[in-house]
Amino acid sequence: MSVLTVQAERPGAGFLEFSREALAGYAEALGRAWGVLGVGAGDRVVVYDYGSSPVAYLASRAFAPYLERGASELTGATALCVDGLADNVGRLAHVLRHFKPRFLFARAELAPLLLAGPTAMPVEQRTARLVLSADGDTPARSERVSWEGRWRGGLSLLARCDAAAFLAAECPRCRALRVPEDLYEARITRALPLRSPHEQGRGLLTVRPRFLDLDPLTTELSVRSPAKGNGCSHADLELA
Ligand SMILES: [Zn+2]
Repeated sequence: MSVLTVQAERPGAGFLEFSREALAGYAEALGRAWGVLGVGAGDRVVVYDYGSSPVAYLASRAFAPYLERGASELTGATALCVDGLADNVGRLAHVLRHFKPRFLFARAELAPLLLAGPTAMPVEQRTARLVLSADGDTPARSERVSWEGRWRGGLSLLARCDAAAFLAAECPRCRALRVPEDLYEARITRALPLRSPHEQGRGLLTVRPRFLDLDPLTTELSVRSPAKGNGCSHADLELA
């Protein structure tokens, strides 16, 4: 029985229907991603995103009906959401000042707003680790590097493809995308031309969640095999 219907742009179907178990599986994916990023018991997490984003509605059982354990219940952290409208950046500054989170999850398109111009976050409030996500392809590496240099708490990525109910975080040490194999079938398809001699391979990600009855979906997420010798033992994908 479906308990939650979520709009998602997907060929042939505009909505995803979640049973209680499927919703639990999706929340498990977010909880694991939080774990990869280093979120643990007692941590404070702020989510600056729309209520329709899985990064927000899976963050706590308080935010989605029929969700028994959201990412905060799974990790023991406390989550607070600020609606992800650009106009709310002032409210976010207030929340960061008083709540002092260890992690700030934000939509990638909001990063320039947080870092430059009249809406920029004061430097003393750039202490939480900033985790950016976008539904679809992630920001270019060059852009990320420039943002990272200006955000004191460091920067991580959470890869998202809402139409495939896909969530996976980048390892903060080696930058491999950690895809939980028990939750997703994922593989690189359609090899793309290499852009430098250092790349070992590049392609698009085809993914199917194991907790939801969906056909595999090829996303616009550009991924490649991670570089060798990065100090981590896992061999996942890396965002290109
Ligand atoms: Zn790693």
